[in-house]
This record gives sequence, structure tokens and C-alpha cells, in this order.
Amino acid sequence: MNEQGNSYSMATTRLKVSQQEIRAAQIADKYVRGLAFKCLFPSCGRKAIRSHSIPSSIIKLSLAVDEHVMSLSRSTTSILKNKYYDLGMLDKIPVSKAGTFKGYCNYHDNWVFGAAERDNKKTQGMYGAMHTRALSIECTRKLELLAFMEKKKQVLGYQDSADNLMVNLFKIEVKDLENRITRILSPHSSGIYDFRVFTVSKNIGVAACGVFSFPQNDSNHIICYNVIPYPDMSFLFLTAPYNDIGIVDTYISHMGGERYCQKIFNDIIFLRGEEALMSPSLWHRLSRKRKRETVECILSPIFGVQKIPPIVKVKRHEVGVDSNLIDRYLSKGI
Ligand SMILES: [Zn+2]
Repeated sequence: MNEQGNSYSMATTRLKVSQQEIRAAQIADKYVRGLAFKCLFPSCGRKAIRSHSIPSSIIKLSLAVDEHVMSLSRSTTSILKNKYYDLGMLDKIPVSKAGTFKGYCNYHDNWVFGAAERDNKKTQGMYGAMHTRALSIECTRKLELLAFMEKKKQVLGYQDSADNLMVNLFKIEVKDLENRITRILSPHSSGIYDFRVFTVSKNIGVAACGVFSFPQNDSNHIICYNVIPYPDMSFLFLTAPYNDIGIVDTYISHMGGERYCQKIFNDIIFLRGEEALMSPSLWHRLSRKRKRETVECILSPIFGVQKIPPIVKVKRHEVGVDSNLIDRYLSKGI
């Protein structure tokens, strides 16, 4: 879900923000960056390490140029300053910091995301790991925003009603995400999720991982996505609870069906997501106008973007691959 789409961000972008509020946001932003978070594994409580939304080995192999990728800075302060509104640019991010989140302690990071290597049901283990990773990123981002709002309130000495409403909503969403994570990490979780896969026979130059609700703002129905580029192939994995996989099919139909693969990729990565990692070589090929559209798309709730520009290009003949190949690619890392 697009966290920047909350009423807080919209209000601060559209209305004049006081220097006092900007200062409070800067302090809160710095505070959250240095904050330790607890491991999301049920009943663990140890300090979470930094995990990658997409393994750095994949980023290096398929996206990075000079150890950097392009992404939108996660700094709330920079949004407050309308940095992107003025420049319409993504930031150059070192691979080591690209798409990191504090989700699990060292032990459980291996336990959750190493499952794929350990499991006999190798591919199934990988789908489970991808599903869990997407839920975990969303949960940690919400926890970061809650900590940000709390600190900002403390510095300012008050919290307006819009922020207050948002905090309450985030708390409910965090609880729901924690419940979903607990269910999938329970010992008998096998088969509780299902998946759909889109394949493109080239490196699309973008990686992404996250969740979105469909219909929008209906948090009862959450779809997890992982966009993973390999040097000569790219995959979009959509996962949902087994008893709710119909929502993925409904979403695909809503987009016009599987043959609108390009539209689906761009919709999920840029319009519904906000943490796309883009290859600098793709970014620099985009026109100035398309770069601005890309940022406006990522910040869509602020800019009210409805139309999806074809940032990632996918031709019909590039879609689809022998499903037997998927296992081979996944074994290179997810
Ligand atoms: Zn742990």
C-alpha cells in the first residue's frame, strides 16, 4: 500500500507547511532512521537486522551500475520539502542500502528467507518466502510511520485530527499484517497461500516488492507482489492467501486480462507500489517528461495520477515462458 498516500502527506504537499512542522518532521525522520525495531517473528523480540527487499546479488547482477540503483528516497522530510515536486527525480541509492527494511533478527532472517534452500519443496518455499517478505516490508514501513508520527507529535506538542486518524488506521493495519505473518510462519502453514506468475523474456530493469489492497483501500484483500529481474528474464509473482486467490484473478481481469502484461507491471510497480528499484541505465533512457511522470506515479495519491505511463516496456511476444524454467531461475535467488 502506498504509505505516502496518507492524508498527512497529501495535506502537507497541498497546503503550506509551517517551518515548525518541517523542523519537527526532520527530527522525527532522523529519529526513525536510527531506531531499532524488534524481530517480527512471533514471540522473538530480538533486534531486527537490515534485510533486503530484493537480494543485493540480484540487484548487482540485473540492475546496478557502479554499485548504484535509482529509487525514491524514503525520507518523509524530502517529501515535505517538495523536493520531488520541484525536480521530478529519483535518487541514486547504493546497492547496500537499496530496499532495506528492519524485519527480522539474524537468526529468523535466515529461517524465513533461507527456507527456500532448506526445503524439499524448493519452489513452494520460495513463494512462501516472497509472500512473507512482502508482508514484512509493509509491516515495518507502517511501524516506521507510526514511530515517525509519534515523534513528530512529541516535538510539536500536538497532533492534528488527520494525523490522529491515520495513526489509528496504521495501528489496525499493523495488527492485521502481524496476524498474517504469524499465520504464514506457523509450523502448519503449508498451502495457505497461492500464486500467479507473469514472465517476460528479458531484463525489465526494475525490481519491486510490496503489497497492495484490491479494491483500493479494502485492507481485507491484500495482494503481495515480487518483481524480480534476472539478466535475461523477469518475473512478477502475485501471491495471496489460498482462500482469497480469487482477488488476484479479479485484479488481473480489472486490468484487462493477462495480455495487458505491460499495463499490469507498470500499475503494480509504480502506481500501487512506491519502492521500485530501477536500473540507472533504464532511468537515463527515459525522457525528462517520463521521469517526472514516473515520480508522480509513485507519489500518485499526492498527484492524483490515474493514467499509467509505459515506464517498463513489455511487448506481447516477450510475455510467457515455459513454466519449468521458473524453478531454474528462482534457484538463482529471489
Ligand atoms: Zn527473531
